[in-house]
Amino acid sequence: MSTRRIAIFGATGSIGLNTLDVIEQLGGRDSFELTAVTGNANVEALAKKAIDHGARMAVTADETRYKALKEALSGSGITPAAGTSGLSEAARMDNDMVMAAIVGTAGLKPTLEAAKAGADIALANKECLVSAGPLFMEAIAAGGGTMVPVDSEHSAVFQVFEENQRRALERVIITASGGPFRTKSLEEMRHVDVATARAHPNWSMGLKISIDSASMFNKALEMIEAMHLFALKPEQVEVIVHPQSIIHSMVGYADGSVLAQLGAPDMRTAIGYALAYPNRPALSVERLDFAKLARLDFEAPDETRFPALRLARVAMARGGLQGSVLNGAKEVALEAFIDGRCGFLEMAEITESVMDSLSHLPAAIDIDDIYAADAEARRRAAGLVRA
Ligand code: NAD
Ligand code: MG
Repeated sequence: MSTRRIAIFGATGSIGLNTLDVIEQLGGRDSFELTAVTGNANVEALAKKAIDHGARMAVTADETRYKALKEALSGSGITPAAGTSGLSEAARMDNDMVMAAIVGTAGLKPTLEAAKAGADIALANKECLVSAGPLFMEAIAAGGGTMVPVDSEHSAVFQVFEENQRRALERVIITASGGPFRTKSLEEMRHVDVATARAHPNWSMGLKISIDSASMFNKALEMIEAMHLFALKPEQVEVIVHPQSIIHSMVGYADGSVLAQLGAPDMRTAIGYALAYPNRPALSVERLDFAKLARLDFEAPDETRFPALRLARVAMARGGLQGSVLNGAKEVALEAFIDGRCGFLEMAEITESVMDSLSHLPAAIDIDDIYAADAEARRRAAGLVRA
């Protein structure tokens, strides 16, 4: 088998590290040639991964850390690079595939460049589609690559999506664990802190996405992500709370059939699927034991206790730049919550007022429109946090 050239954007994060693990499981250097790994300020960890896995280039997004990265790589023969130009360089290498696993809107530009350059995109960085869905789908089509989702729900949908039966497609049903506050009242949620909010019952993930899971903003982003990725109408995107996180999502067809993908909650399954696509890889992940599981539960989502879900519907109905505005405002509120500057429920309140105040922005022509809407949403959200 020929090796595939792969770059990992966000190699030092939760998804990035799992990707390196999956690459080892799939044959390491016999199967993959690592063109580039990128990270942020933690250049020691980045350099170690670059050396251990034989990357050609290592990029820190933080320009002030360039010298430190260069030192950490000295004698290794690995090229150091930094900043947005470094990320661009990595995006334009001869990549067969890019794992897009940067967190937040920082991942938009390099991922878009990689898509335009024709690489297949394994997409974890959901903000790409939430903020700039149409631009990304166009870039993928123009570049000629394939976008394979890594978000577990979207990977599940992708796996059971019968593209040649699109006319018979009725709905996509995204499952949600409900997070650590699934059974909490609004009053109880008003006073929760970061430590309780980050403790996800089923998945081990980065800090921000864990808190987004508690507020269900993560599910809100995933609804918008699914709409763009699978070219759905807003009303075709459903959410069902499924506390065990065993069914990762489902697709409903016109004959009443519902196809589901199931597995242990382990991101390496979705990552492995994306890396080996269109083949199914052999992975050493836990196998489901149905006798032990005994039951799978389902509940309707509660948009009163979890207003983020309602906001996703608003954003999908309004279209244009509302996804970008929702995400930008939410990011500022989330950071404020993490720093103790705003309450848990205030995150949705702030996001909603910013969305309402920027509901008339026209659709984006290019990435600069996305960054402008994102910046304005952040500016307004920051004002509300201070107030
Ligand atoms: P993480 O915080 O663990 O890692 C983020 C990575 O991005 C790190 O390598 C970090 O160095 C890099 N990074 C951070 N800020 C940056 C910046 N300003 N510029 C460039 N790089 C920067 O996050 P994660 O949990 O691995 O999530 C990555 C993405 O995947 C997110 O979009 C998340 O929503 C999505 N995702 C994650 C999971 C999961 O299980 N962790 C599941 C589904 C989707
Ligand atoms: Mg997910």
